[in-house]
Amino acid sequence: MTNQELLMSHISKLSEDEISSLLDTVTVMLQEKEPAPKPACPHCAAQAVIRYGFKCKKQRFFCKNCGRTFVTTTNSIMANSHFTVSVWKEMIADTLHGNSIDFSAKRLGLYHQAAFDMRHKILMALLELPVVADICLGDVSEFDETFVLDCYKGKKLDTGIGRKPRKHGAKALKRGISSEYLCICTGIQRKGDAFAATVNRAKPSARELGSIFEGHIADGTLALCDGLRSYHALTGIADCTVRDCMNQECDDAHFFNLNTVNGFHSFIKKRYEFYRGVASKYINRYNALFAATYRNAESIIGRLTETVLAVTGTSYYHNNKDIRTAGILTI
Ligand SMILES: [Zn+2]
Repeated sequence: MTNQELLMSHISKLSEDEISSLLDTVTVMLQEKEPAPKPACPHCAAQAVIRYGFKCKKQRFFCKNCGRTFVTTTNSIMANSHFTVSVWKEMIADTLHGNSIDFSAKRLGLYHQAAFDMRHKILMALLELPVVADICLGDVSEFDETFVLDCYKGKKLDTGIGRKPRKHGAKALKRGISSEYLCICTGIQRKGDAFAATVNRAKPSARELGSIFEGHIADGTLALCDGLRSYHALTGIADCTVRDCMNQECDDAHFFNLNTVNGFHSFIKKRYEFYRGVASKYINRYNALFAATYRNAESIIGRLTETVLAVTGTSYYHNNKDIRTAGILTI
């Protein structure tokens, strides 16, 4: 009997627990570093998990608490995906760097639909990342709204939209802010985080501003705005002070200005035009992308890759039906 056969016969007598710890040791010998810690069970969050073979070349685990198995991508955006981690990483980087779906599809050799689904799974995960979902503007923050032309990409326009399709790059039919525009409400802390969301076409009402920024403004914030009375509603959702930069009391233009938020608007418009619009129903997924990447694309890429590819207690997994239905804007 060769050593290899001898070893195999020993292994066949070991329990799953013993094989699991043996695998840990082998991992150390092979990589000369600590084995990757065993993840908690994504189904019940128990720590009592053992290695349990492989599924689609991914390490599979067995939870001794709930008796279910999982791979390291269960609940991550990669769940049920046929693409490798490296393709996902490339897609994450392309998404955060503002590349279009068609560009990524071509570069990575994917069908448009596959690239579209990956893009939206990444955007939906981004919306749920604590670093994005828990954005809290404080200190001195500027608030304003910007308008982009609506867009019915991927949808035939004879279904009650009431206007003829626009050619790429074409202007709106009517002058000024008409119903063809979507309103993106934005807030940005000077030297801090940015936030953007759309609830309507027209300028936001006090109630809408309250719902958009609720939970995203810290107490003690000095909120600068451009004179739209509705912004006083912000005092109802946080212990903040609202100042109108157009008001004569605020005559120090070096301080009372909206330059920071205007810079953020330029960034949004540039990205939006580069995409040749974003289907309006998905605008809030892109608003989250604009806000997250305005100042820290690189660090978000790192976090998305780490957080989303790893098993966590939070489910980042969305199926293809969610992509078409979850959180879409219907105005
Ligand atoms: Zn479990």
